[in-house]
Amino acid sequence: MMGFLKFVQDFCYPPLCYLCGNFLAEHGLCANCWGRIKWISAPYCNVCGRPFDIAMHQTCAGCLHKMPHFDHVVSVCCYDEISRNMIIRFKYADDTYLTQLFAKWMIRAGEEILSSADMLIPVPMTLLKRLKRKYNQAELLAMEISKHAKILYQPELLYKSKNTSPQESLTKKQREKNLKNVFSIKEEYAVQGKNIVLIDDVMTTGSTLNECAKILKIHGAKTVCAITIATVV
Ligand SMILES: [Zn+2]
Ligand SMILES: [Zn+2]
Repeated sequence: MMGFLKFVQDFCYPPLCYLCGNFLAEHGLCANCWGRIKWISAPYCNVCGRPFDIAMHQTCAGCLHKMPHFDHVVSVCCYDEISRNMIIRFKYADDTYLTQLFAKWMIRAGEEILSSADMLIPVPMTLLKRLKRKYNQAELLAMEISKHAKILYQPELLYKSKNTSPQESLTKKQREKNLKNVFSIKEEYAVQGKNIVLIDDVMTTGSTLNECAKILKIHGAKTVCAITIATVV
């Protein structure tokens, strides 16, 4: 049955490379496009996960200057033209193959933090935004990762209680101000002593992850790590 379903799916939606559109044997990227993605590998900051040019430090200047509330962020690749293309497609076209592909990448990149995780929490959207978008892409990723990594998925524990102005055009300082105290927790004791992993698509300045980590730590979370598809470098 599975074989037949796959045949029907492939017949209706033949596997094409997500970036160049070439035919492939399986959904994903062709070798050429794969090589164009800026994958993140060591050396990188042991807090925010942003890559270094040279392997001299363990923690970047930004994190040393103001230590974030999160313990460690792992991102799969750098945010650039190529990854942006894929992420936009994932955000606005309900593409399940892309969800599976990204989740696979995130599990591989975040293997170490997932091995001690007690729960996965998607970075929340306000209800209004979620209704407009129909789904929260962070939820899709967290659900998929939870299924394969067998880690508890907790989409309702953390929520965004206030609407904020769009972050895109704001500076880091403005973003921090914009996000101050907008996240809340439903069951105060559920996070106590737990190792929590936040899931999101892109880390821009890190302000969102930082605010989420702050409230989780206030309520006693032991560690708060995060896995994102891409990071702005
Ligand atoms: Zn390609
Ligand atoms: Zn850093």
